[in-house]
Amino acid sequence: MIPKNLVLLGIGHTNAHIVRQWETNPIEGCELTCISKFATATYSGMLPGTLGGQFNDDEMRIDLDALCQRAGAKLILAETNGLDLKAGKVLFADHDAIPFDALSIGVGSMPAGWEMHAAAASLVPIKPMQTFLTRLNQRLETTQADTKQASKVAIVGGGVASVEIALCLLQHCERQQLSRQVSVEIFTSSDSVAEGMTQRSVRRIQRILASRGVRVTTGQRVTHVGDKFLETEDGSRYDAEVVIWATGAAAPPVLKQLNLQTDDRGFIATSKTLQSLTDPRVFAVGDSGTIVESPVPKAGVYAVRQCPVLWHNLRAFLLGGSMNAFDPQSDFLKLLNTGDGKALLQYGCITAHRRWCWHLKTWIDKRFVSEFQVDRRVDSSNQEAN
Ligand SMILES: Cc1cc2nc3c(=O)[nH]c(=O)nc-3n(C[C@H](O)[C@H](O)[C@H](O)COP(=O)(O)OP(=O)(O)OC[C@H]3O[C@@H](n4cnc5c(N)ncnc54)[C@H](O)[C@@H]3O)c2cc1C
Repeated sequence: MIPKNLVLLGIGHTNAHIVRQWETNPIEGCELTCISKFATATYSGMLPGTLGGQFNDDEMRIDLDALCQRAGAKLILAETNGLDLKAGKVLFADHDAIPFDALSIGVGSMPAGWEMHAAAASLVPIKPMQTFLTRLNQRLETTQADTKQASKVAIVGGGVASVEIALCLLQHCERQQLSRQVSVEIFTSSDSVAEGMTQRSVRRIQRILASRGVRVTTGQRVTHVGDKFLETEDGSRYDAEVVIWATGAAAPPVLKQLNLQTDDRGFIATSKTLQSLTDPRVFAVGDSGTIVESPVPKAGVYAVRQCPVLWHNLRAFLLGGSMNAFDPQSDFLKLLNTGDGKALLQYGCITAHRRWCWHLKTWIDKRFVSEFQVDRRVDSSNQEAN
């Protein structure tokens, strides 16, 4: 019998779970192929803490080669440039087409609007996350000229990720003992930072930022980024030698090339079963997909919650059986790393900024990522055996 092909495009929060399941419970009569742009996947929840020096770089990374080898899956490092839906193939400019019987697309998102300023030497987009710390450090180093003035870092985007990056960047610079001090300013077109969080949490975040010397400019869209400055829509000009671009999620350009129906923001439109509205063989998960009936913010928590539904539905699709619907919950525990050994916790109407919140966040994050870190799993099972 010719085996069926399950193909995963992008191995992020949701698709990595399928590889993990495959290790112990592969789908009968099927082969698994994983396509990734990078040899590692980065766990975003630990990126700010890694920037702040709280974790080693490899603690936030998943080695995809090791993960796939252990699952008996094929890993292909390549960038797709389209789908041939009629023939059921993923297409590439520099690799043979890969046939699929079922395809799960999880290529994440990109920060909105960064490409308009791509030519500016100061620009450091937050994605790809795999290379963010290297690109940031390179840019910070070039600003360490022989002057006493503080080096100015702008963070464009006022979401919770920007807040974490700002606070952990200060921790990073303190640890690096840079020859120049660093001043950090957040620019957001919204009325406040951390929109979507409760008023109480927002006020607490504003106080934390102020106490650490992080300035915030609200209600201003950044319209131009030059090599050592940026401009906002009211025509103001600000010095900025490093501009970290961390705006909200936008559809990655590759999604346009796939000939699949999208929502009005360019993300793949799906049903509640996570299947494309264009082709039921194609699933779209995490940031890349939008369930048109019940859209949710682009957040890793939702990508993770989709894991069991995706796994069930891929099996049902390939082996026959009924599909499950993904019903997102409306609220979830939020934990922000504040770069001072503490985290800010928000759950329902509760807000707390304490050291134990950081320990809780670290425990949750490490437990999640270690599931996919093959070497660490081998180490811990060896320890248990001893
Ligand atoms: C700094 C930061 C902190 C965050 N913290 C949190 C948090 O604490 N909690 C939370 O809920 N959310 C958080 N988020 C949001 C969260 O990262 C995303 O919602 C989540 O990563 C989405 O998961 P995903 O699987 O869709 O995509 P990703 O995890 O981004 O995975 C996509 C993968 O696909 C790969 N890829 C991209 N393009 C291609 C291509 N063309 N071909 C093949 N592979 C490709 C990428 O390299 C990547 O490995 C944070 C985001 C940032 C930027």
